[in-house]
Amino acid sequence: MLCRVTVTATERRLATVETIADIGPIPDADSIVRARIRGWDVVVKVGEFEVGDPCVYFEIDSLLDVTDPRFAFLAARGAQTAADGRRGHVLKTARLRGQYSQGLALPLNLFPEVLERVPGTDVTTVLDVVKWEPPVPAQISGVVRGPRPSWIPATDEERIQNVAAILETERDDWIATEKLDGTSSTYYVDPSTGTSGVCGRNWDLLESEDNTLWRLGRRHRLHELIEATWPDARAAVQGEVYGEAIQANPLKVHGQHFGLFTIRVDGAELARGDWPDWALELSVPLREDLRFPSSVTEALSDIDGLRSAVSPDRPAEGVVWRALGASTVQLPDGTPSRASFKVLSNRYLLKHDR
Ligand code: ATP
Ligand code: MN
Repeated sequence: MLCRVTVTATERRLATVETIADIGPIPDADSIVRARIRGWDVVVKVGEFEVGDPCVYFEIDSLLDVTDPRFAFLAARGAQTAADGRRGHVLKTARLRGQYSQGLALPLNLFPEVLERVPGTDVTTVLDVVKWEPPVPAQISGVVRGPRPSWIPATDEERIQNVAAILETERDDWIATEKLDGTSSTYYVDPSTGTSGVCGRNWDLLESEDNTLWRLGRRHRLHELIEATWPDARAAVQGEVYGEAIQANPLKVHGQHFGLFTIRVDGAELARGDWPDWALELSVPLREDLRFPSSVTEALSDIDGLRSAVSPDRPAEGVVWRALGASTVQLPDGTPSRASFKVLSNRYLLKHDR
């Protein structure tokens, strides 16, 4: 089977047509087994699938409409109401008999509308799957100027389970940064319109005295620094805002903070090796204690008990790996890919109900 996934900042491919790559036993369990789909492990019933069987695979964070009879069985496990009013069950990390299980695999023949699709095809829209987004508190959401400018991509990171081939690239300058569990923010200067702006995940926010993202931008003088460093360019820095009153503050830190992770200048992502000193000083923590993993399994086990660098008593959510000297890399099959991916701790996801 050929499965191509490139790391680009696009909408998530939450539902895809896939093939069961492997099936293995779970110690002390006789009615369930572990199925491997891309880099994901999913617990399924014995006999439900065989290696090579086609299926539709739904990733965690998918909201599956429980009024669709094929998803109705999930209603008993809980349902949420999405922003557009639909009721659905949200897929989250689970653990059965010690085996992590992420996402849902259902036989392809339940989905006549996608029966013809080849493995790897994204069927998120056809099957009407949407991503569950937790509500954003008012202090962060602020008053909206408009959507995030189109020249600034969302701050998404692809999961290692979806880009395992990236572990085989030739580069030897990968570095791990800690993934801080807060909310995404973007600070930009656009000389063509004379705008200095601040965006949350999706929206461009009007300046206000008490909006958290704006306050942090002023505290670190981000707009002045951007303007002074790239005077004639459209430039943006992106980072995580975390701390008190943000996402339940899982790191239990005092105050509110900004950790920078991405810089974009005139449409291109700047490799970390080209960052100015002030940006390095504001960076999310580097995790030089980690070695570049050689497999998905190793990547996951390396961070399983990782402690946060900003809050040493707390577990870290995970890491984001970046190449120091390049913003894109070539995968072994020749496809270009963003030189970045995330590895999230399954233990952390389970604990935080994601
Ligand atoms: P999804 O996987 O659906 O995109 P999400 O948008 O909630 O989920 P996360 O799983 O939180 O994304 O992972 C990507 C986000 O991680 C980025 O949008 C960014 O806000 C945040 N982040 C935190 N720390 C880092 C870091 N060190 N490097 C890059 N991104 C980071
Ligand atoms: Mn994202």
